[in-house]
Amino acid sequence: MNIQEYLEKVKNREISIVKIVEKITKEAKSSPNHFTAVANSHAIKRAEQLEKNPVGNLAGLPISIKDCICVKDLDSTAGSEILQNYRPPFNATVIKNLEKQGAIIIGKTSQDEFGFGSFSVNTKKIPKNPYDQTRSCGGSSGGAAAFTSYTKQPHIALAESTGGSIANPASFCGVAGLTPTYGLISRYGLIDYANSLDKIGTLAKTVKDAFLGLYNSLSYDEKDSTSLTQTISKEKKVKKIAIVKESLEVDKDIKDLILSKVKDYDLISLPNVKKHAIPTYYIIAMSEASTNLAKYCGIRYGATSDLKGNFDEFFSSVRSKHFQKESKRRIILGTFARMSGFRDAYYLKAQKVRTLIINEYKKAFKKYDILISPTMPIIAPKFSEIEKLTPLENYMLDTLTVGPNLAGLPHLSLNAGFKEKMPVGIMLTTNHLEEEKLRTLGEEIEDN
Ligand code: GLN
Repeated sequence: MNIQEYLEKVKNREISIVKIVEKITKEAKSSPNHFTAVANSHAIKRAEQLEKNPVGNLAGLPISIKDCICVKDLDSTAGSEILQNYRPPFNATVIKNLEKQGAIIIGKTSQDEFGFGSFSVNTKKIPKNPYDQTRSCGGSSGGAAAFTSYTKQPHIALAESTGGSIANPASFCGVAGLTPTYGLISRYGLIDYANSLDKIGTLAKTVKDAFLGLYNSLSYDEKDSTSLTQTISKEKKVKKIAIVKESLEVDKDIKDLILSKVKDYDLISLPNVKKHAIPTYYIIAMSEASTNLAKYCGIRYGATSDLKGNFDEFFSSVRSKHFQKESKRRIILGTFARMSGFRDAYYLKAQKVRTLIINEYKKAFKKYDILISPTMPIIAPKFSEIEKLTPLENYMLDTLTVGPNLAGLPHLSLNAGFKEKMPVGIMLTTNHLEEEKLRTLGEEIEDN
């Protein structure tokens, strides 16, 4: 039963929302680490109310929420121990919007701590790939994508991407992952990774359902200073497509799958993206992350301990104990890039190169409606393979997703087929606010 059919049945009172919610929360609990918290009793209560009065576009639809998005009275820890037991006293704007439409929050999905990672291994509760539990689900929205693939019930996942955290796990788990234009969905109530890059988006089994999630999440929000006043353009037609030439320098099986999905295309070269996107992204993302994490100093936010020593000693002891290794690395590198004396050479330079990259895309979109590439250069790696990666090798695997994220461009990853029985994702990127074009081509690829 697809989501449309389910919502129809709910409206006609032909199906019990409570039963569906019971089933899906059971799946959430038994899933291989896809959830950090399951909102059992809260979800059932909502289901009972909605069964009596099914109002809203999404009446009765179960939704999972990435752990970094605040849900009132539900543990919201961004995958971090430093936020253990944090229960927000408020809902993120996007949660308010979805609940107003009758969606039912079933729990929080596991992720890399604060979104720092590509494989959801930088956290205590490591989610496993439903296709092969010895492999990663990708990240940082690993739990969200994995559960979207795993569940048999109608469901949409809400997640977040800074540099590819929706597309990457969507690709590894064989589902559709939609990252909208920067500023389209309010970030109010999102626990920050890097403010100039963070975007909330959706995952679902189909492109159509990922868009259903998007449409019901949108609103201008004065609480988010980067919230857009414009909305998605109505233009649906996709006239010209280009495949990014450099993105085909991947494994031959992956390349062939991508090429088999598109007819009538040009090849286009994006040299600045290829050469500069990874260093630019990691300098900006880490710089912003290091300032965002400064507030977790054991006093006002998050975990604390007995006051001992001077402030520096106290602050360091709390942070040493509760942050993962990768977060510590990013705090150190990000702080370094912003230090006086280095700021011009790294952080400010990265901002300038970011503009170069944005301009390169803008030029491409003068001619093309959509740019295509594989989502990831590899299939989901085994945990044993990830352990062997150096940090730099790990970051390099984001080479295809960081470009669109740096430029705030909407992109959609969907399944293109399988290699060694593992899903391979194809990624479509379009100009700002042209999400409807992604939908047109995405549905076409899905149907063929
Ligand atoms: N893998 C990238 C990083 O580690 C992207 C993560 C994200 O989008 N949250 O920064």
